Amino acid sequence: MRFNTLAIHAGQPPDPAYGAVMTPIYQTSTFAQKRMGEAEYDYARTANPTRTALQQCIAALEGGKHGLAFASGMAAIDAVLRLLQPGDHILASNDVYGGTYRIFKRVYEGYGIHASFVEMGDLDAVRGALQPNTRMVWVETPSNPLLKIADIAALAALLRARSPRPLLVVDNTFASPYLQQPLLLGADAVVHSATKYLGGHSDVVNGLIVLNDDALHERLKFLQNAVGAVPGPFDCFLVLRGIKTLPVRMERHCDNAQRIAHWLTKHPAVARVFYPGLPDHPGHAIARRQMRAFGGMVSFIVKGGAQAARRVVERTRVFTLAESLGGVESLIEVPAAMTHASVADSPLAVDPALIRLSVGIEDSDDLIEDLAQALEAAGA
Ligand SMILES: *Cc1c(COP(=O)(O)O)cnc(C)c1O
Repeated sequence: MRFNTLAIHAGQPPDPAYGAVMTPIYQTSTFAQKRMGEAEYDYARTANPTRTALQQCIAALEGGKHGLAFASGMAAIDAVLRLLQPGDHILASNDVYGGTYRIFKRVYEGYGIHASFVEMGDLDAVRGALQPNTRMVWVETPSNPLLKIADIAALAALLRARSPRPLLVVDNTFASPYLQQPLLLGADAVVHSATKYLGGHSDVVNGLIVLNDDALHERLKFLQNAVGAVPGPFDCFLVLRGIKTLPVRMERHCDNAQRIAHWLTKHPAVARVFYPGLPDHPGHAIARRQMRAFGGMVSFIVKGGAQAARRVVERTRVFTLAESLGGVESLIEVPAAMTHASVADSPLAVDPALIRLSVGIEDSDDLIEDLAQALEAAGA
């Protein structure tokens, strides 16, 4: 079946108990056993039918074999990092999500697992930055907040030539599987903050992993149960419900973002626009090849520095000043002061005049009028 159909049906046949068309929220911690040890489900940390449906659905959407759901994107990332041992090295994109940078630097370094950062779009730089103990390469494309593009297939080919071969992990949160399917391009694992586009309505925190390898899946499933950072059934239900409209939402996110990005490039108060859908974006050709469209995130640098940026984000009326992204409503923020405050004094620090938009699915005329009045009122 094709993507639009899978988004609605994968992992969700009518419920065997009463034929409910929507996957029920199995709000229970334990399950009755017919005979001792004889039950499909025994304890809800280990497995829950609502979670199973979500896991099967995301696996189908990513073109992968196994899906696993967690209490948050960070819990999913944490599970993947637990595949490593002290002494191992992670090579990561140089503008990873702030929370990912924080868990690398302030959690896993304490256990002897070191991360370094590289321009993931530059294959020579990646080759030069790989170490004999590099066991994992961590990619975000499009990246956050600069929307840089890395070539997933080229990275997979580069890593295939190495022995032992590092695992290629792609955080696919910004693209969603509708726009990009990293496993089909050679990645070993995909992680998601389902809090963003998959949930899509800013009403749930959830994380997902998808992969093909049976042994790695066994280990991660073991960790899911042993560590216990599992999502509740209601949260799984919300993500399943969000996913049903993922394709139609993404189409509108992308159309609106493309239009806004183009409009911003012509605005006199804007110094620079970052959007992979713009023809002069350095990753445009690769994005065109590996993505269905260019996503709903747009960043730009406003003239006048941090003060001007603050004035703009405090004056929008349709765009809400908030962290997070990927919901139906448009959000605006200043990464240096908000989402990326945890990398402020690091080499990953971002321009204080950078503004990030999560372009929602409202009418694009209203969004553009809102940005116009905010840029003007801010004297930008
Ligand atoms: C939000 C986000 C995360 C973390 O996910 P949570 O659900 O907030 O724990 C990881 N990666 C990216 C790219 C994100 O945007």
